[in-house]
Amino acid sequence: MQSREARILVVDDEDIIRIGCQRILQNPGFTIDLAENGRVGWEKIQQKSYDMVLVDLMMPEMGGLEVLEKVQAHDEQIITIIITGFATIETAVDAMRKGAYDYLPKPFSPEELRTKIRRGLEKRWLLLEAEELRRERDRNLLELSNEKSRTMTLINCMSEGLIATNRTGQIVLMNPAAQKLLNLPPENAVGSTVEGLLGNPDLEKLIAGELETAARTATVTSKEFAVAEERFLQSNTAPLHDEKGEVWGTVTVLVDISEDKKLDQLKSDFVSLVSHELKSPVAAIAGYLNLIIDGLTAGNPQKEREIILRSRDKADSLLMLINDLLDMSRAERRGAAKVKELLSLAPILEETIQFYQNEAAAKSLSVRIEGLENLPRVVGNRDDLARLFANLVSNAIKYTPERGEVGVKGRKRDGHIEVAVSDTGIGISKEELHKVFGEFFRARNALAHKISGTGLGLAICRRIVDDHHGQITVESEIDKGSTFRVILPVPSGQ
Ligand code: ADP
Repeated sequence: MQSREARILVVDDEDIIRIGCQRILQNPGFTIDLAENGRVGWEKIQQKSYDMVLVDLMMPEMGGLEVLEKVQAHDEQIITIIITGFATIETAVDAMRKGAYDYLPKPFSPEELRTKIRRGLEKRWLLLEAEELRRERDRNLLELSNEKSRTMTLINCMSEGLIATNRTGQIVLMNPAAQKLLNLPPENAVGSTVEGLLGNPDLEKLIAGELETAARTATVTSKEFAVAEERFLQSNTAPLHDEKGEVWGTVTVLVDISEDKKLDQLKSDFVSLVSHELKSPVAAIAGYLNLIIDGLTAGNPQKEREIILRSRDKADSLLMLINDLLDMSRAERRGAAKVKELLSLAPILEETIQFYQNEAAAKSLSVRIEGLENLPRVVGNRDDLARLFANLVSNAIKYTPERGEVGVKGRKRDGHIEVAVSDTGIGISKEELHKVFGEFFRARNALAHKISGTGLGLAICRRIVDDHHGQITVESEIDKGSTFRVILPVPSGQ
């Protein structure tokens, strides 16, 4: 047993007993305090924590039994030894029934006193140790239950669904995410078997199958399945084994993969669209070359030249397409690779207009510029913004017949900048307006006027604007003209 300092209080009205006890118990491991009556003793007990109290039964002011009662109520684990005269032994025995540890009849020898004290202290240390063990157990239980509730909180907050079953296929755990992903009512499914419960035969079969083969395998089985139109889940089911390797049940993690599926679909649609768009000019060039190789133009240099020129046009449109595709992937590359800075749009717009001046002049178009002087600055990527306005201005010129008008107008609105690129060109029909920002879309009017293009420019514009947290809109009327508006946020303090 661990040795510790024992604090002992001797409460007796007889000086000789008090002093005697103090002398006998003088020992480096003991602290002895004395009280000359019950009242003083009780005061000391309240102020200091004692391991043991020796108390005389017969005392003026407060008798030993009263002190005993108070000590018991104060701290049951304090060892109380009753010091008693011969005449009061019966009362002392009664006191033991009331909780005193022992009694010591007067007169007593030093050895008797030491023996009682030693035994009493042994009892006291045992009590304290038991108390400490109990506290530790309570602490551990508390930690365990905290740990358990922490784990449950984690499981309940997961965005992935989690379903655990026992070996008979009964659900022992299902978190709210699993219920939501499987569209199950909020009732508690714990305790029911999976069969017919998950509303998804594929998943139910998977879990049941896993239980059957679990004894042999320890692998994770993954499966994708549809839970609604355009909603897909991936499930990963694995058997659970206990430490002896026995199958305990299964655990299934459900992940919503609808977004990934949609992206995959978009990607493969885009790839087939691009391949298709690339294929037609290449096939046309190959066809023209075959005409020449097969000698079909032999002796007809004019025909041959015409075919070569057509091939060059196709090669040009191929180049245009490839350039647009490259622009598109540049616009797509977001994040760290893109340097954004606080910049003024006026020089970018002026340079763009300057660049297309010859094209506009060739068609005798008048170009009007308005409101660019005092525009606040925006945060953006210089190259991307230049590409955005180049696409809009070149479209305005391209889709406007001779002697028309093209305008670039800037203005400040609350917290935003708006740049409108307008023209008096061929316009776009109302029904097609919402499609113009999609990849490879070309409006009927553009095709009817035989104006070449890739259908990618506006898709690139939309991506750039999105990346700048802005908006792009279009208004148009057939044969009247179109206005494309770009709205970009202006950082505060401008
Ligand atoms: P492209 O001009 O290379 O075909 P865009 O993505 O820039 O591709 O434009 C998509 C379609 O929107 C064009 O094919 C055309 O039909 C229509 N369009 C774009 N800008 C204008 C405009 N200013 N006036 C009329 N139609 C336009």
